[in-house]
Amino acid sequence: MNKLVLKTQNNKVPILIGNKILSKINFSNFIIGKEVCILSNRKIAKLYLTKLKKKLKGFKINTFIIPDGEKYKNVQVLNKIHNFLIKNKFDRQLTIIGLGGGVIGDLSGLVADTFLRGVNLIHIPTTLLAQVDSSIGGKTGVNHKLGKNLIGTFKHPSLILIDIDFLNTLQGNQFKSGLAEVIKYGAITNRSFLQWFNKNTNKILTRDITALLKIINFSVKAKIKIVELDEKESGIRAYLNFGHTFGHAIESAKKYHGILHGEAISLGMILAAAISIEKSNLNLEDFNLLEDTIRKTKLPADLPLKISKSKIIEHLKYDKKKKLGKNNFILLKSIGSCHITNKITTQYLTNILDSFQS
Ligand code: NAD
Repeated sequence: MNKLVLKTQNNKVPILIGNKILSKINFSNFIIGKEVCILSNRKIAKLYLTKLKKKLKGFKINTFIIPDGEKYKNVQVLNKIHNFLIKNKFDRQLTIIGLGGGVIGDLSGLVADTFLRGVNLIHIPTTLLAQVDSSIGGKTGVNHKLGKNLIGTFKHPSLILIDIDFLNTLQGNQFKSGLAEVIKYGAITNRSFLQWFNKNTNKILTRDITALLKIINFSVKAKIKIVELDEKESGIRAYLNFGHTFGHAIESAKKYHGILHGEAISLGMILAAAISIEKSNLNLEDFNLLEDTIRKTKLPADLPLKISKSKIIEHLKYDKKKKLGKNNFILLKSIGSCHITNKITTQYLTNILDSFQS
């Protein structure tokens, strides 16, 4: 088991990473009172709730299980959980345990931050995306009908438990979706990691334990480094959005159907890297390394004809990370080094999209 620590302004968040570590952990080191409430969804609960409950013997265990899906990450569900906690008269000694992917993690964080002005929180991320990204950094949130993650806070947990054993039951496309974020960390912070990833895609795709631990440890360290420098995203934390400005617009243009987050981010990274060739002197060799890595990971690298370019451009206009009416793009100077710009015109974006549609 490896232990990493995220140092925030007010806390030190331990992040434990390993294979089959759920069975080894002593939860009483991270739980204040006697009561816990596990938040999960039906699919994950069926697979892992009994196992987790066994590890929590000695605590009074409550559960709140929601249906599976992004559409349940909303204020109505948040309200139902609040009702449950209030009616059951839990006090500030309660610990919320989020057992699931990013949907459950974001919701659990918001519940733990808002119930009685904040109670203890533990994240047990069960998707690759949640293990390398969403469980780290404190962002919580629910979606609003006008946009994703528009309601949320920052709340750090007392423990993040990353057990790669959970990934054995994860569907292939969900696993690859998480890999897109790993590729992103390589692209923005470390060329030699991306080169290694490129040479080892077979091992990674077959979920070789050593390879998985390597990519997760690398990604978590990369995220810790950036979050520690800019906890509330007033500066360089925005680098984590590499590929996401286009990616989010593509997801919105597809109304979140038929494309997973990581697939949209892969396309977004290729587009951002293509802009980088002209606007920030990214050399062709670096572009090719990124593109080849995405292709070898069997993530999409060509914009499908069915996606409407005008819709993508339209959705870029509603990007919530716009500042003073301008889209921010993270561009690569080289693999491992990036910068932020708001100087890309709509006409230029349209041309780039034209050149990429297969
Ligand atoms: P998800 O939580 O919907 O999980 C994807 C699917 O995998 C679901 O069907 C889920 O039930 C299933 N699943 C989860 N663990 C499993 C397991 N071990 N075995 C089998 N199936 C399993 O999606 P996600 O990709 O984990 O997260 C996406 C969410 O994360 C979005 O809501 C996004 O906004 C959010 N997010 C948040 C942050 C942040 O910083 N807070 C960062 C990135 C993404």
